[in-house]
This record gives sequence, C-alpha cells and structure tokens, in this order.
Amino acid sequence: MSATKNLLLLSCLLLRCGVLALSGNFWHITDLHLDHTYELTNKPERVCASSGQRPAANAGNFGHYVCDSPWHLINSSVYAMKDILPDPDFIVWTGDDTPHMPNEDLGENKVLEIISNLTHIINQVFPSTKVYSALGNHDYHPKSQLPAAPNNIYSQIAEMWQDWLEPESQVTFKKGGYYSEKLLNRTGFRMLVLNTNLYYDQNNLTQNMDDPAAQFSWADQVLTEAANNKEKVYIIGHVPPGCFEKKRSKLWFTKKFNKRYVELIQKHHSVIIGQFFGHHHTDSFRMFYISEDFPISTMFLSPGVTPWKTTLPGVEDGANNPGIRVFEYDTQTLLVKDVVTYYLNLTRANKAEARWEKEYRLTESFRVPDASPASMHQVLHRMANNRCYLQKYYEFNSVNYDLTECDSDCRIDHVCAARAVDFERYESCLAKEGAASVYGGLLPVLSVALSLVLASW
Ligand SMILES: [Zn+2]
Ligand SMILES: [Zn+2]
Repeated sequence: MSATKNLLLLSCLLLRCGVLALSGNFWHITDLHLDHTYELTNKPERVCASSGQRPAANAGNFGHYVCDSPWHLINSSVYAMKDILPDPDFIVWTGDDTPHMPNEDLGENKVLEIISNLTHIINQVFPSTKVYSALGNHDYHPKSQLPAAPNNIYSQIAEMWQDWLEPESQVTFKKGGYYSEKLLNRTGFRMLVLNTNLYYDQNNLTQNMDDPAAQFSWADQVLTEAANNKEKVYIIGHVPPGCFEKKRSKLWFTKKFNKRYVELIQKHHSVIIGQFFGHHHTDSFRMFYISEDFPISTMFLSPGVTPWKTTLPGVEDGANNPGIRVFEYDTQTLLVKDVVTYYLNLTRANKAEARWEKEYRLTESFRVPDASPASMHQVLHRMANNRCYLQKYYEFNSVNYDLTECDSDCRIDHVCAARAVDFERYESCLAKEGAASVYGGLLPVLSVALSLVLASW
C-alpha cells in the first residue's frame, strides 16, 4: 500500500473515531401508568380499574389495550431498556405513573406509593445512571390539580428522587415541581425540567394566574443566563403545548399559557437544542418556527408504555402498543442525531414470548441526515406531501397499533398539529390545508369535465 493510501486510511479512521466519540445516547420513557388493580379473571369488565368497565377480552400477562400497564409490563419495559442499551448517558422520564381511575379510588398515599414503586425499579435497574424526571398530571392527588406552591406531594417526591436531584433542584422542585441543572454536570450544557401541568386546562388551581409558581419568569431567567454562559439546553416536561393530533383543535394548555410557551421558545431558541415531552401516549413531534419556512426548534413527543385506549370523546380507537425510545445526540452540540423507537407488540406478547423490537430509526424511515429542526421540517414536508410517508408516520403514531389508512382529514389533523403550536397559526393551517384538500378532491372532477368539454369540441 502506498504512503498516501496509508495516510488516507489513517485520517479516515481518526475521523471515524472522532465522530464516534462525539456520539451519545439517552433513553426517553413516559406515561408508564401502572394499574395496580390489573388481574386476569374470567370477567372481562373486571380485569382492570382503568378500563372503566370496558371489557378486556383475552387479556394477558402483559396487559390489554383498554387497560393501563400491569406491573409485568412495567418490569418488562425497564428490563428491555437494560437489554437494549444498558449504559445510557442519562434517562429522561416524563411522568404519568398512576392509572386512569377515579380520584376516590386512588388517594394521596396510593399515588405516592405508585411513584415510589416506579422510581425504585428504575433506580434498581439503572443504579448509576442520572435520571431527569418531570411530573405528569397523573402524579398528583387529585389528578391534574398540581399546585403552584409548596405541598406535601412535591416534598415527598423530591425525597424519593434525591439520588437524581442536585440540592438546588430540590429547592425549586419543592416550590413548584420544576428544576434546572447542568446536564451531567458538564460546563456548557443544561437540562431544564418543567412542570407544565401548571398550564394544563384541567388544572383548576392555576387558571386565574399569570405565571403559576413564577415558572415562566424563572425559565426566562435560566435561558437568558444559559445564553450568557454559552450553554446548550434540553427542555423536558409532560403536558405539551399545541394541539392533539388525534382530535381537531384540542389544545391541552390554557390559551394564554400556550402563547407564552411559544414566545419563550422563540425568544430563546438559539440555546434550546431539543424538547422532549409525553402525555399524548402517541409518537409525534411539534415544530417551532420564526417565520413560515424557518424552523427553530423541535419538540419530540415520545410514545407511552401504557397501551391504554383513550376515553377522550371524539377519538376513535386511540390505543397504542407500548413504546420506549433512544435518542442519539452529539455530545458537543447536543444536536439530536437520530431517534430509535422500540416497542412491544402487545397481542403477540400475550400469545407467545414477549419481544421488544426496533420499530424504526428516524433517519432511515424518513431519509433525513439527522433529527435537527431542519431535518424534522423536511420530515413534516414529506408527510404533508407524500401519501407513503404520511401513512408510515401514521402507523408509527400509534406504535403500529392502528394500521388503517390516514385519510385527508387525518392528514390535516396530523400535519397542522405538527406544524403549528401557536393556536392561531394552527387554525389558519386547518383553513389552508382544508381548502387545499377540497381543491385536491375537486381536481379529478374538474379534469374529467374539461376533457369532456374538449372532446365535444
Ligand atoms: Zn399519560
Ligand atoms: Zn398526562
């Protein structure tokens, strides 16, 4: 081999090593929703409290689509994480631990016990891994009523999570359920953990407030300092801003809080490198723009572990297969390089052996170089304009549970939810895409009419 060739090979190897050294990964798990009442019985309505008496026919050890997760499924998901990627840089856990059942049947002690059990298993399986953990709307009693002030539940949870929280984080967490720390204690990198349950429209305690628990002004300050210190930031939380892609115009946040969140991201986008949320139980994403075609940030919505079919009126057959997710990122820039989702086919798991398998890798399935805002903008463009990509995205959305066709209304719901977090922009997206689809539907009729006119000439 010639000297030039050797040199070339060496530099290629070095470059390759360099690239590999820059790569890190972390787990994102969300919406585990343990149902402690799950029990296999021959009365389908009695299998689990979270079914609300919907029959769980042929329920199995790993759960049922009308039920929240039995312990067996939770256990299986955490050990699957250990098998697939045993030593992640950190874990992001975005809440919702308790089952969908009436407050009266849960109570504060049960809620705390469930959060403690889940904390324990994650800690036991990943004893030396840093966990960044956000509260979900189900991590409180009564559900969704998270206060903008110190209370017993925030204090108890701060104690449970003491291995994961810095002393300063304990202070803000006890005050408002939020915190911020240097990411993995590294200079130049930061994690911002929000309690967006304070903005949820179901939260009766915060509706009349301008800035519950002063979280917006605190986040604004943290992000301003981050810019001054040249830090790069990840934001995690549970309830996301924007609309639910499975129900038209369904905003989770109260409108004024939704607006304020969008403004926060627009103001600080240069330091925010990724946002990771849950609550939907579905697999989707939200784009933030500064102008029409200028993407500035992406919020990744990861699928839930619970398969629970939502009872939200207007959503048909809204269940999912259990999903868990690995993010690959550049450890120098925090750029999200790829997203790999793993899942359990629940029907198959109950019948035969449970196998957590790769569902898809973002860059492969959508043919993009990475998961940067520019690439996710491209993914959105592909879904919006290409039926094959739309259908692929749609099947991933329910983690391969709903394999029916995503029709033109479905397309509008998913495209507009991903494109516009701001509610007014969302509404104008509906109008624009709706008009486009009516026009699209009329097009074949018009062309037949035109050809008839031409033929009669
Ligand atoms: Zn949930
Ligand atoms: Zn939730």
